[in-house]
Amino acid sequence: MSDTKNATIAVRNGIEADKHHGAVVPPIHLSTTYSFADFDTKRDYDYGRSGNPSRDILADTLAKLEHGRKGIVTATGMAAVNLCTQILSPEDTLVIPHDCYGGSYRLFTSLQKRGLLKLVVVDFTTEECYEQIAAAKPKLVWIETPSNPILRLTDIEKVVTASHAVGALVGADNTFLSPALQNPIDLGVDIVVHSTTKYINGHSDVVGGVVITRTEKLGEELAWWANNLGLTGAPFDSYLTLRGIRTLNIRIKQHEENALKVAQYLETSDYVDTVYYPGLESHPQHELAKKQQRGFGGMVSFSIKGTIEDSARFLTSLKQFTLAESLGGVESLICHPATMTHAGMDKAARLEAGVNDTLIRISVGIEDVNDLIDDLDRVFNLTKPGQSASVQSASFDKVQVNQAVPARPAIW
Ligand code: PLP
Repeated sequence: MSDTKNATIAVRNGIEADKHHGAVVPPIHLSTTYSFADFDTKRDYDYGRSGNPSRDILADTLAKLEHGRKGIVTATGMAAVNLCTQILSPEDTLVIPHDCYGGSYRLFTSLQKRGLLKLVVVDFTTEECYEQIAAAKPKLVWIETPSNPILRLTDIEKVVTASHAVGALVGADNTFLSPALQNPIDLGVDIVVHSTTKYINGHSDVVGGVVITRTEKLGEELAWWANNLGLTGAPFDSYLTLRGIRTLNIRIKQHEENALKVAQYLETSDYVDTVYYPGLESHPQHELAKKQQRGFGGMVSFSIKGTIEDSARFLTSLKQFTLAESLGGVESLICHPATMTHAGMDKAARLEAGVNDTLIRISVGIEDVNDLIDDLDRVFNLTKPGQSASVQSASFDKVQVNQAVPARPAIW
């Protein structure tokens, strides 16, 4: 494998792809079908679901960035997760984290309910998880590190050792860090998945996913399934995602610099209970983060003092943070996982995963960080979470807050 550095691959891969006109930026190929060169003589491409030049450049770039052999670009991140489950038969066991992304959790548990796989749910932050892997004899072990939204870490090398010892493959969802900050394949993982909707595209204007495999053989098997199931990504989305990748490294640096400052500010606030950011020395897995990551990323979670009403007043008073799901775009987003990203999880499982009613998650953007901190400070002083007097404040009379976490269909 070439030893070209990731930042260079991100900027240059595919730049020389156009052989006809020498276009510097690889063109978008929108055609759904391709002419045969002659009777029974296909060219490189025949039909857009099975192959497309714009999608292939993106797949190749992402495979190189993750140090894998094959990339398969899918229509969404969930299509990528779903694709990985195709290697499992009803008698096979899948081990998953108790706190993985809610959409992945919903997919895995619903496949189990239909008898399409066996499921074992573990807490990868405990030492018992390695024995649980050995006992389950799984075909696939799924990890997500750092996890969403509490930013717990999984020791990738230890999980790989325990899993490979019983013949299991390991799949890692690397969405929260992107290949700019973590390469699970270098640590022994067999399959890496991304929701490219997040940092990889980085501009909140494409929903997409990718699966990258350590071996060509596994990649071919999954590419066959992607075509078979019709999960492959669209050419225009591929074009935009590749454009996003060109600035991935520099964006991530700014996300991280801002996130650390925001996390440090939150740690000093009287209105905050706990701050979750692997870059803080107070994070219980800070050392593990330094060992297996090249940085700490742009996601910060924290719980405020008080109640769900305090959360609502706080979240609806900010000006520089948009109350929205998703993450990884250049703009700062803030969300209330209990009523948004994790609303479809049953309450017991949600609380077990640490998602309580005052937990708040920020996807820290690349704005001037002083504006972000000023906004948080202003709203803390205005809403005073945890101090009941603030409930009387006239400025919040209009805010309608449900007493309980509302039951909503899970859309994530
Ligand atoms: N994995 C993680 C960690 C996510 O956060 C998400 C979406 O939020 C997904 C997978 C699913 O990706 P998509 O929304 O692109 O289908």
